[in-house]
Amino acid sequence: MDYDVLILGGGIIGCAVAYEISKYNLNIAVIEKDYDIADDVSLINTAMVYDGVESEDTLTARLERMGNKMMDTISAKFNVPFKRCGSLIIAQTDEQAEMIDKTYKRAIDRGTKDVQLLESKYIYEMEPNLNVHIKKGLYSKNTGVICPFDLALAYGEVAFDNGVKFKLEEEVIDIQEISKGFKVITNKNKLTCKMVINTTSSENYSIANEKKIDINNYKSILKYILLDNNDKKRFSHALFMFNSKGERIYTLPTIEGDTVAAISTKDNVSYNEAIDRVSKITSGVDNLDVKMFLDWPFFEEPIVIDDSGIDDGIIQIKGKHYGQVTMTPAIASIVCESVVSKMQCKLKKDFNDKRRESYKFRELSDEERKKIIVIDKKYGKIICACEKVTEGEIVDAIRRPLGARTVEGVKRRTGAAFGNCQGSHCLNKIVSILARETNKQMTEIVKDSKDSNIVRCRIKEFDSM
Ligand SMILES: Cc1cc2nc3c(=O)[nH]c(=O)nc-3n(C[C@H](O)[C@H](O)[C@H](O)COP(=O)(O)OP(=O)(O)OC[C@H]3O[C@@H](n4cnc5c(N)ncnc54)[C@H](O)[C@@H]3O)c2cc1C
Repeated sequence: MDYDVLILGGGIIGCAVAYEISKYNLNIAVIEKDYDIADDVSLINTAMVYDGVESEDTLTARLERMGNKMMDTISAKFNVPFKRCGSLIIAQTDEQAEMIDKTYKRAIDRGTKDVQLLESKYIYEMEPNLNVHIKKGLYSKNTGVICPFDLALAYGEVAFDNGVKFKLEEEVIDIQEISKGFKVITNKNKLTCKMVINTTSSENYSIANEKKIDINNYKSILKYILLDNNDKKRFSHALFMFNSKGERIYTLPTIEGDTVAAISTKDNVSYNEAIDRVSKITSGVDNLDVKMFLDWPFFEEPIVIDDSGIDDGIIQIKGKHYGQVTMTPAIASIVCESVVSKMQCKLKKDFNDKRRESYKFRELSDEERKKIIVIDKKYGKIICACEKVTEGEIVDAIRRPLGARTVEGVKRRTGAAFGNCQGSHCLNKIVSILARETNKQMTEIVKDSKDSNIVRCRIKEFDSM
């Protein structure tokens, strides 16, 4: 057999599973069709870590609670920014207050810790800038925010350092059963293995014939707005409420100190209407505050860890859900237990549970900055002025294990181009560094996927191209 375990899909769940099982004496590969791992994790580098209170589905709630509990240890170990900001579900009408009572009772029945019903006066004290009438609220202490790219990258990097092979730009075409294992056919290879863990959803495989997720089968569209706080006082907790149209609306403080506001709607809401709806609950939003505006289909399909084929050696992660980042550590740990029991494998003696360190120039003191610039002059050259990202950090992001090969990869690893100008001053410099470091022409560098080249052709007047 070429491998003991093949993991199909290098999203956050594929990477987390790879990390967990890389602790054992197994020969593992991850197959990912894109240029980078975890390309679909999120478009904004803050994900909510739910605690199961909001979830109607009991199994989903349990996975969220389990993942939530594991986040402190994992984020600390991998140095991934994670903050428990707490959340408030707010009722503005008697009907909503009744719904909150039911949600509270459900949470208590499920054994959820640190939830509390609050009267309006306490909520105004906690969130003095909240500009709505409040009947009551449900406070959840353990809700948090995390950097999802960083978490996915950390899982991938540590798995890579512990011997997992990442086969990028390789698409799985089929899985076939063979004697004592499987043959996974990709657009580049035919690979044999004893076990398959499928985190992709394709209806074309001969086995694991999973019904493809219908990307049009979502409950509603999330209108996502990333707001620069611009010295405006917004909210310190994640807030969930309904507006007068019955649409779910929520805001959360990002790790970087901005605010995400989102409206879940079935209507075709324009940019101006979305801004207007968000302005009604905050201390006003103007166009200059808006860093990003995007639509995201809101999926609420329960996640199922299907190990009904474990005797044959196949595990499938099915479903698509808005809280998948939260559930990731729990899913990876459950899958790992099944793999260990099926493969009867032993822990590696030389497993290295440490992520390679990197410098974040913007977080260093002047003294620390001087020291690293002496070691490497590239840390003295700012490339992204908005986010204070240096050439040294970009080069490190490219040269690290599972290093960036695309502009999006550099952005996610370093935070460059995520500032107010959204890369208008630094994208060309990032392309140029990527070309130099990967020994390619600038015209060959892509944004994130095949044919997404940023520089179309050489302009002969510019020597640097
Ligand atoms: C805008 C946005 C906001 C979100 N906010 C939150 C949040 O606040 N909290 C939270 O918990 N979650 C959040 N999520 C959800 C979460 O980020 C995603 O659901 C999660 O990243 C899914 O991870 P995954 O590994 O299961 O799937 P995916 O990321 O879809 O991974 C599957 C991988 O398989 C690859 N693949 C597919 N087919 C093949 C094939 N045939 N061969 C090889 N590779 C293949 C894909 O390229 C992909 O990389 C958010 C998502 C988005 C988009």
